[in-house]
Amino acid sequence: MLSVAQIGKEYGPAGPGRVVALAEVSLEVKGGDFVAIMGPSGSGKSTLLSILGAMNPPTTGTVTIDGIDVYGLSQERQADLRREYIGFVFQQLELLPYLTAIENVMLPLAILKMPDKRGKALHALEQLGLDAKKAARLPSELSGGEQGRVAIARAIVNDPPVILADEPTGSLDTESGQLVLELLRELARAGHAVVMVTHNLESRLVANRVINIRDGRCTFPETISACSAGR
Ligand code: ADP
Ligand code: MG
Repeated sequence: MLSVAQIGKEYGPAGPGRVVALAEVSLEVKGGDFVAIMGPSGSGKSTLLSILGAMNPPTTGTVTIDGIDVYGLSQERQADLRREYIGFVFQQLELLPYLTAIENVMLPLAILKMPDKRGKALHALEQLGLDAKKAARLPSELSGGEQGRVAIARAIVNDPPVILADEPTGSLDTESGQLVLELLRELARAGHAVVMVTHNLESRLVANRVINIRDGRCTFPETISACSAGR
């Protein structure tokens, strides 16, 4: 489903100030995989995720999603591909405070022409155990765990095959974070390709693959070819 080959990413103008954020990273993720990317702050995790998410062109290497060469597409086509293939969950959850839960979930559908967006959003919320009453509340009227569920509902409302999550448990208490990890695992079980960046050590237990990254390179204790290694 998702494949990156020999990705490198450098930031900034040529010269001593140039930052090498990623080097020689290769990775394959299939439907049903739940991959955790772990590593210290500044190691390149978010860079890798944004490259996977068609949001940040790599300096070298290619990214393919469902066989499509992502960065060979025009910007506009990249945006279409994001909408069709990718659901995002961010650390701050990024729920808009002045929209109700259901309105937040409807956001990714906003520019699509499709009937019954509200019904689709409610269905996504119900899949995550939130009923119509909760759906009508503002984020501030929901618990941390419920807000996490809303953020995931928004990521899956369009049923994208790929789910990308950057520190999805980062702003949650332990119990809510655990819930979010379990929900992501369920999505992987249901056939989505799930890639999560995390500091959360619990993630090692729920993910079926852990990729360690350090100074922009994959490190993996048991294997040499790091990221490209299977489970
Ligand atoms: P992580 O998510 O693991 O903390 P990042 O991918 O955010 O790491 O960052 C990797 C490296 O790239 C860091 O040295 C960071 O300062 C640098 N970096 C990230 N984004 C940018 C950017 N937009 N411009 C310049 N440097 C960046
Ligand atoms: Mg980060």
